[in-house]
Amino acid sequence: MHLDTLVLASSNKGKLRELKHMLEPFDTDVKSQKDFAVKPAKETGLTFVENALLKARAVSRATKLPALGDDSGLVVDALKGQPGIYSARFAGEDATDTQNNELLLEKLSDVPMERRGASFYCCLVLVRHHRDPAPIVVSGVWYGQILESPRGQGGFGYDPLFFDPKLKHTAAELSIEDKSQVSHRGQALRALIEQLRERP
Ligand code: IMP
Repeated sequence: MHLDTLVLASSNKGKLRELKHMLEPFDTDVKSQKDFAVKPAKETGLTFVENALLKARAVSRATKLPALGDDSGLVVDALKGQPGIYSARFAGEDATDTQNNELLLEKLSDVPMERRGASFYCCLVLVRHHRDPAPIVVSGVWYGQILESPRGQGGFGYDPLFFDPKLKHTAAELSIEDKSQVSHRGQALRALIEQLRERP
C-alpha cells in the first residue's frame, strides 16, 4: 500500500523525530498533526491500543488524510504496570520528563534491582480514513530494568532510567539509530512497514 501523505497523530517531539527518521526511506510525505493545528484527541482509553486508535481517528477526521496514531509508555512490573498509559502525565498533567523520572525513582525506592523489571510498549494504528473499519494495528515491546539513578544524555522521557541488560546501556546512551534497532517503537514501525508492503 502506498501512501502519498501520512499525518502523525502526536505532538511529542522525541517520538516525531524517531518516527520521521524511520519513515525516511519511504516516498511518503510525513506530516505531524501540528502542521494542521489539530486539537489533540482526549486519551480516554484504558489501553495503549485504544488510545492509539482514538488519536489516529481524530487526526484523520480533522485532516481528511491517512493518519498514524501512536501510544506508548513504560510498564513497570513492581508497580502493576504503572505508569502505563499515564506515562506522559505520571507526575501530573503538565509534568516534565525530570518530574516523571523523579516520581518513578521515589516509587521504586524500596525495590531491589532484581525486581525492577520494566518494558517500553508501543502501539501504532494506521487508518486510511476516519471510518476505516480495518486499521493496521501493530505493537512492539522492549524489555529492561529501571536503574536507581539516570544515565546518558540522549533520547527523551524515561530513557535515562531504562537499562537494557543485553546492550548494557540505558536508552539515553544509545544513538537514535541504535535505539530504533531495539526499541518498542522501532519494532512496531518495522511491523507496520511490513504490513504496508504486504497490502496491495
Ligand atoms: P503518549 O504520548 O501518550 O504516547 O505518551 C508516551 C510517554 O511514554 C512519553 O511522554 C514518555 O514519558 C514515555 N515514553 C514512550 N516512549 C518512550 C521512549 O522511547 N523513551 C522514553 N520514554 C518513552
